[in-house]
Amino acid sequence: MIDFHCHLDLFSRPDMAATEAERAGIYVLSVTNTPKAFPKTSQIAKARRRMRTALGLHPQLVRERHDEVSLFVRLLGETQYVGEIGIDGGEEYAGHLDIQREVFERILRACAAEGGRVMSIHSRHASSEVVDCLRRWPTAGTPILHWFTGSKRDAEAAIALGAWFSVGTPMLKSKRMSEIVATLPRDRILTETDAPFVSTKGSAYPVEALREAVFRLSELWRCAPEQADAQLRSNLSRLVKTAADAGV
Ligand code: MN
Repeated sequence: MIDFHCHLDLFSRPDMAATEAERAGIYVLSVTNTPKAFPKTSQIAKARRRMRTALGLHPQLVRERHDEVSLFVRLLGETQYVGEIGIDGGEEYAGHLDIQREVFERILRACAAEGGRVMSIHSRHASSEVVDCLRRWPTAGTPILHWFTGSKRDAEAAIALGAWFSVGTPMLKSKRMSEIVATLPRDRILTETDAPFVSTKGSAYPVEALREAVFRLSELWRCAPEQADAQLRSNLSRLVKTAADAGV
């Protein structure tokens, strides 16, 4: 199975969570909320074959941490994966949309300058803004919209720009969102947990939540869970291969 967006460093026992995911054979993208957290967090994934670490600057932290953008740009050469980045238009953050947009675009510009990155993107209450930014930076890489909750129209606009989606159980439990997921191209979907914030019980890595996401996708796709799993795996290998071919 695949967990294309989780925060290994934020588990109470990161190494234990990583070991559990590894034992379950899960491919993990471990995202970081700040560039400062990247060096230490990437150590967790270092000796683990199926884990990669993404360099991030969470939009909810941008107001306090925007001076870390320069560190972000300096570290960008060390990884093919970026996340989480993006824009949050929720009530608490809508007051600083300008700075969020500025930082997001600076990151997209840096990714473009480096030849593109695979990017896990947050777009809560800001999917149109995120799509607009992506449109301005078409060579920034492959955007994966994580836990997308926007409109069908924004989803279609994102697809036209080459975007993928990482979906988890909370999204698939929502009637409105699962209807949208059913319309997305199957070959641009990956699963995610966003753990430990979501799906987690205690300190354990949420293998079951991931299994449930695959099961719910198989229901939407009207196929066996094994087939859904095979589709997701083939998506991941294509994503990784495309990124490698592009020199990402
Ligand atoms: Mn997250």
